[in-house]
Amino acid sequence: MRPPRNDMTDLEKNPAMTGSMQHWPLLIWKLIDHAALNHPATEIVTRTVEGPLHRSTWAQAHTRAKRVAGALRALGVQAGDRVGTLAWNTVRHLECWYGISGMGAVAHTINPRLFVDQIVYIVNHARDRVLFFDLSFVDLVRQIAPRLETVEHFVILTDGEHMPPQEAARLLCYEDLLAMQNGDEPWAELDENSPAGLCYTSGTTGNPKGVLYTHRSTVLHAWSVCQPDLLGMSARTSALPVVPMFHANAWGIPHAAAAVGAKLVMPGPDLAAPALQRLIVDERVTLTAAVPTVWLAVLAHLEREGGDLGVLERLIIGGAAAPPSMIEAFEQRYGVSVAHMWGATELSPVGSSGMLCASAAALSPARQLELKCTQGRAPFGVEMVLRDDEGRTLPRDGVQRGRLAVRGPWVVDRYFDSEGGHARDRRDADDWFDTGDIATIDERGYMRIVDRAKDVIKSGGEWISSIELENAAMGCPGVAEVAVIGVDDPKWGERPAMLLTREAGAAVAQADVKAWLRERVAKWWMPEHVIFIESMPHTATGKIMKTALREQFGAAGSKPEKGGVKP
Ligand code: ADP
Repeated sequence: MRPPRNDMTDLEKNPAMTGSMQHWPLLIWKLIDHAALNHPATEIVTRTVEGPLHRSTWAQAHTRAKRVAGALRALGVQAGDRVGTLAWNTVRHLECWYGISGMGAVAHTINPRLFVDQIVYIVNHARDRVLFFDLSFVDLVRQIAPRLETVEHFVILTDGEHMPPQEAARLLCYEDLLAMQNGDEPWAELDENSPAGLCYTSGTTGNPKGVLYTHRSTVLHAWSVCQPDLLGMSARTSALPVVPMFHANAWGIPHAAAAVGAKLVMPGPDLAAPALQRLIVDERVTLTAAVPTVWLAVLAHLEREGGDLGVLERLIIGGAAAPPSMIEAFEQRYGVSVAHMWGATELSPVGSSGMLCASAAALSPARQLELKCTQGRAPFGVEMVLRDDEGRTLPRDGVQRGRLAVRGPWVVDRYFDSEGGHARDRRDADDWFDTGDIATIDERGYMRIVDRAKDVIKSGGEWISSIELENAAMGCPGVAEVAVIGVDDPKWGERPAMLLTREAGAAVAQADVKAWLRERVAKWWMPEHVIFIESMPHTATGKIMKTALREQFGAAGSKPEKGGVKP
């Protein structure tokens, strides 16, 4: 018998305590290896930045991802280094994702819609060594390049033919880099807890904070979101992630698609409703996902131009609350099943989904719609708890509101390289991560976001949920988008103000909205002001930007993130 090694763990020293199964680290490159081996001919279709539709397969993407890995090694990138991407959802971006993490580096997706100063901040903070970017962002990169302290190589995601001539000498061309590689580069053998991806929250307060995903967290998340109650993905799925890869990993779809061998349809830079509808119909898309603003535009387009959504089976709405009127419209008029999902960058991002459970089948259609409008139930792997301000756990009665905290293997442990105190300020000793959301959870486990802690309106010591008021107003004919913010009030402390935009050509007036609301919300919830505005400001992730509205309308100062909780 061999003598025990000095560095043996307790489990290794005592074989009776170890199981007898293989150690198979959960590494992201195993996803694309699997797809290439078992689903080699399954397509990845891209609306390219250059214009035409491009068709690739999992087998081709696999080889090219290996070329990316080889190219990065040739550029001197080491395991653990960060490699930034400023790119739309395309097959080239996908190849970069798998190639970067496959050679052991970290794929840092950067949201190009952030303010220039924020982009500079996060690239410097992440210490990105290489930056891959689409042709759409040449001007942006030219503008910020002098301020990027660590980027050594700039790579345009295009071919020689489309290289901007004036940049050709200073920048690398993606297709030229790949052509120098033979595509049999070995993947990195890594610990499954090695970092693989980096995404910064949009940072509505303070600087953006980075969430450093691991191979393990990414693979577990990908596996989980395939489940029927979440994205419901399989080898028969044709998935169109409208949600960008730079917005919390396109909600896991590009990784989940490899796990099950689904077809991917990548929309590139054209996220306008007509282009999306065409892709959905032409590519026989069965699953698609985006924030409510996108679906609002698609609905308006369908109403205006007619047409349908082909064979689309499931439409995911997430990132912000899905108004009931939107869920109803897609389900009843277009025959697709809507799943309302909740999550956050810190949760990789998926935390829950509002798919109905078996017992809900007996409920009335109205009650079923109510359940679908909740943010839904947690999958295995996400634990949820509601807490009051004193940290006491609140019951799951569907009534009591508390701060929602979560934990699980794809929930952030600490922010990436955060200075000062904010590394763990939203995580307590028991690992619960405070999401900053106020919610209720009912007996069945359906969680309902009442508001973000910083958006809830406190009126006379009671709470008014901005989300509920917005949802009520969204059904009013002629209304396009709604945002409710708190405004200072000498008597009540704060009162709701409602800002709205009209659908094109609609004549809906203040009085119509008030009459509509009077039948749907409690009297004391009636907004103090109902104001139509020309256009709604949106954040970099396509959500309504309430901070801008607060500034513009002189509303109550933004509340501290740790706002009070009234049980
Ligand atoms: P940010 O919006 O700050 O860019 P995230 O995308 O990580 O970053 O946002 C996460 C937050 O978005 C959640 O904490 C929650 O407030 C909100 N959110 C996400 N999904 C939903 C949903 N389905 N309904 C309501 N709010 C949601």
